[in-house]
Amino acid sequence: MKKIKILSNNLINQIAAGEVLERPVSAVKELVENSIDANSKKIDIFIRDGGRTEITVIDNGDGIREDELELSLQRHATSKLNSSNLEKISTLGFRGEALPSIASVSEMIIRSNTNSDQLGKEIKIVYGNVKSVKPVNQKKGTFISVKNLFFSTPARLKFLKSENYESLLIKRIIQKFAISNHKIEFNLFINQKQIINLGNKYDSRKGESFSNRVSQILGEEFLENCIKLNKTKDSFLFSGLLGLPTYNYSNSNNQFIFVNKRIINDKSLNTIFKLAYRDFMSYDRFPQLILFIECPFEEIDINVHPAKNEIRFKDINKLRSYIISSFKNTISSVGHKSSTVNTSRAIKRFSNDTNLQKNLELKDNKSIDYFDENDKKLVEQENKSNSKHTKFYPLGFAKSQFHNTYILSQTEKGIVIIDQHAAHERIVYEKLKNDYYNKEVKTQILLIPEIIDVEKSVLASLNGRFDIAERYGLKMEAFGGNSVIVREIPGILSDCNIKELTKDLINELIEFDDSSSIEKQINSICSTMSCHGSIRAGREMQVDEMNDLLRRMENTPFSGQCNHGRPTYVELNICDIEKLFGRK
Ligand code: ADP
Ligand code: MG
Repeated sequence: MKKIKILSNNLINQIAAGEVLERPVSAVKELVENSIDANSKKIDIFIRDGGRTEITVIDNGDGIREDELELSLQRHATSKLNSSNLEKISTLGFRGEALPSIASVSEMIIRSNTNSDQLGKEIKIVYGNVKSVKPVNQKKGTFISVKNLFFSTPARLKFLKSENYESLLIKRIIQKFAISNHKIEFNLFINQKQIINLGNKYDSRKGESFSNRVSQILGEEFLENCIKLNKTKDSFLFSGLLGLPTYNYSNSNNQFIFVNKRIINDKSLNTIFKLAYRDFMSYDRFPQLILFIECPFEEIDINVHPAKNEIRFKDINKLRSYIISSFKNTISSVGHKSSTVNTSRAIKRFSNDTNLQKNLELKDNKSIDYFDENDKKLVEQENKSNSKHTKFYPLGFAKSQFHNTYILSQTEKGIVIIDQHAAHERIVYEKLKNDYYNKEVKTQILLIPEIIDVEKSVLASLNGRFDIAERYGLKMEAFGGNSVIVREIPGILSDCNIKELTKDLINELIEFDDSSSIEKQINSICSTMSCHGSIRAGREMQVDEMNDLLRRMENTPFSGQCNHGRPTYVELNICDIEKLFGRK
């Protein structure tokens, strides 16, 4: 056996680096977190070769004291943690690991100063060995340059992906910092080209507004299609922006989550969001959102992983129900609102103006990856989402029906085209569900009960689950060996094809087993029923009936989309129409 020895400091740091620093973006994250912790108002980041050859971060924060510069490079040296605050960490850093870890696997220079009236200090350190310490010209703040990261650990270097990919990760993390720190100015340069420029409009007294920052990063469209979230549950505060259900995407890239200001990646939260939206959105789509959770430090443990982007909630079930109810409340508060993206797409089809088309294509382009529009205007979100109640009639008045499928309505600001089937389906669905929850299901007894043939095996696998259907107003029982007899149906479905409805419902019921949650049952039964009970596309409607539908839409929560997340109407405002005709 070899002798037991304590590892050298440098080796310990390199091992720690393996955990703290997965790739260049991890170093960027640690350095920017330090700058934020130091109360910086402006942070500039310079990257070359995806961070491999150079990462430089310059801030105008508090700086590191001259007599502490060398100490800051010691492992577990931190100004942020002491024996009394491990349970309530309010800074982004606390482990005292980042600087020594980065220094052990790179060529690093730190220049820092706490007071612009005197000289600052510089330290050079190469793969963990201090090369020089000397006074230097440096304003108040800190400059840290990291060169040739991982060159001393070739295994890690090999594992990095393409330069473009590493750069993209860095760009994304800076966007996240910029969203959660909207008053700080951020500039990111990649290979000497400025990629992020946030702070042009920075007002040194007030700082930039949150909505202006979001619109600069994610585009005005994101703001236009989001609802402001602001809900308190117990000691939890949920704020941010929730995308309208019709404004959904195929991945979760545009879900930004912050817990007590910290950037969090947490798959279980992504799943909770799906649950919160699942009534309004198809299963394979993702809501777009920015969510800030603020909660007492006792509710979370951040010290799960050295990279500090995972978090453990003390009571995830509680959090789940808080999130779901806050989201649902917020979404229902805007009632019938539907995404503007659909409208943009519609205009694009109409228009032969290439400029407008270009504009719209850019808008359609999955948001996060464009920055060229620094001159975006601040959107008055408030005015838009305040269509909550219908003192006036946001969906206007029906002018006509066309192709027996769509209703054309004139509104105060333009026109609205409504898909009559989708809209009615949504109304019936919400009503069925509401009646079910309030135990107010009204039924209609059939004068002549309807007998429907059902395969023997199907009937057997139904296992007498007729009582479930009865709770929703459809009363049936087995009738002979291979049929069922329907005696009552929900009043709201009085015009439907009973045979088709019953068959579909039976198919639904045999799918259920003990593991299917009651909520899922409710949703799928109501959705099947509402599909059968709704005005078909192709049926002629009278003006009064159409207006009645519009008024009911205005008063039905979530009526901007059908049960599958498709819009129930699109809106063209008079401005857009004037543009189409070249009047503007
Ligand atoms: P931690 O952030 O966990 O405390 P670090 O290794 O990242 O550990 O940094 C060590 C210490 O160096 C910090 O606690 C802080 O006092 C100081 N420091 C690092 N970066 C900066 C900076 N940009 N501005 C001011 N102080 C800094
Ligand atoms: Mg740190």
